[in-house]
Amino acid sequence: PIGIAPHGTMRTLPPLKAATPAATAHKFNRGMVLVFAGPMPGAAGLASASALRAGAGYVVLEGSERAPLSAIITESDARFGERLSDPRVGAVVIGPGFPAGDELLFDVEAALDSGKPLVLDAAAISAALPRLCETPCRAILTPHEGEFARAFPELYGSKIDRAKAAAVRTGAVVIYKGADTIVAAPDGRVVAAWPGSPWLATAGTGDVLAGACGAMLARGGDAFDAAVAAVGWHIAQAARIGRGLVADDLVRE
Ligand code: AMP
Ligand code: MG
Repeated sequence: PIGIAPHGTMRTLPPLKAATPAATAHKFNRGMVLVFAGPMPGAAGLASASALRAGAGYVVLEGSERAPLSAIITESDARFGERLSDPRVGAVVIGPGFPAGDELLFDVEAALDSGKPLVLDAAAISAALPRLCETPCRAILTPHEGEFARAFPELYGSKIDRAKAAAVRTGAVVIYKGADTIVAAPDGRVVAAWPGSPWLATAGTGDVLAGACGAMLARGGDAFDAAVAAVGWHIAQAARIGRGLVADDLVRE
């Protein structure tokens, strides 16, 4: 169970159970996720495999030649714009594996213009900021401490206060990652996931979380619920695996 504090009240979630697909499910209505990842092949592989394992029915990986699982379709990033207009795509994950400051502006703009629900990770967070405003949008931002400080240097106060302010400012759900992960929505909902698992402090775990957020978002529900589910799943798996965990284990489990 994970300790959760909505509006300051401590509450414990029941253990998470994976949802069984509806009897009438097909691969596209379980959620189709487009992953646009950077030049680090590990990040691309982890984020896309995580989206598939977390329940997406179909995953397309743009900008990478290496499929981490045979079921994942890989494409050159030249086709990203075309894929964005595919009505079956239910969520776009953009940013894993793009180092800070990388030129992502054009692709982030295209993703925002598409009106699709978005998961903005790593370098895509700062790239998207000029376009995000207080009007709520179906987007999840997944900054770690360094990315948060780069994107929101003017915010002060507790981690919860800063996560809430960032959500209001961007109209997006913010997953402010770290030893204590805060999930904040622009409408004021906030949860603190505690305790996390310190075994998550290892390369690639953030990419796994971004992919899982994409799978949850592609189902069509509320972005805050999707973010909380992904964070809860991430921590629950980490706790279960425990000692010696590496990011690939989270995907497999
Ligand atoms: P990233 O830095 O983007 O790879 O993301 C790291 C992931 O691991 C995030 O989900 C963090 O919340 C999580 N994480 C990192 N360090 C810790 C820690 N000490 N305790 C719990 N979770 C952590
Ligand atoms: Mg990361």
